[in-house]
Amino acid sequence: MKFDTVSTLSPPWGSAPAWQEANFSIDFHIKRYYSHLGPVLQIAREACVRLESIFPALDAICRLTCPRCPAPCCLSASPWYDWRDLIFLHLNQLSIPPTQTISGFAETCCYISHKGCTLPRITRPWICTWYLCPAQTANLNARNTGQRKILSRLLGEIKALRENFEDAFIRVIS
Ligand code: SF4
Ligand code: SF4
Repeated sequence: MKFDTVSTLSPPWGSAPAWQEANFSIDFHIKRYYSHLGPVLQIAREACVRLESIFPALDAICRLTCPRCPAPCCLSASPWYDWRDLIFLHLNQLSIPPTQTISGFAETCCYISHKGCTLPRITRPWICTWYLCPAQTANLNARNTGQRKILSRLLGEIKALRENFEDAFIRVIS
């Protein structure tokens, strides 16, 4: 199995063949070990359900902060799919984006458009959901500290679930 998870020169799977190979390998291992993956699938599903539960709140914050943003984060940051992101998509049978977000660290994400991100929230890299920019944090703090606390808790729970399904998946396929 070859998963290029560490590179100092470029994000993993930045080329089309590398992206296809990584996804093919994950898919292959899921099919091969499927009968042992019940608990792993359950954890990944739980992460998916919790993730979806915070989207309405995130959409509402974005509507308030993003349209007039002077420096949209998607244009300056260079997030990419990591190994957990990929196995999350595969374990939940979500559609796999056609390419990695960037092929080099100086690039802008290929999924940005003039209307924002073209990917459904559920298939974006985790960091795109996890990151609340200063404007959004300030907006939440000013408007609804209760919601900020709930969001922080859920983000922490999702992060822990992601670690759990990754560990469990690696144990099964190793
Ligand atoms: S998340 Fe924050 S930095 Fe990114 S576009 Fe919205 S307001 Fe701007
Ligand atoms: S995947 Fe979407 S949200 Fe994430 S950086 Fe790219 S355009 Fe922005």
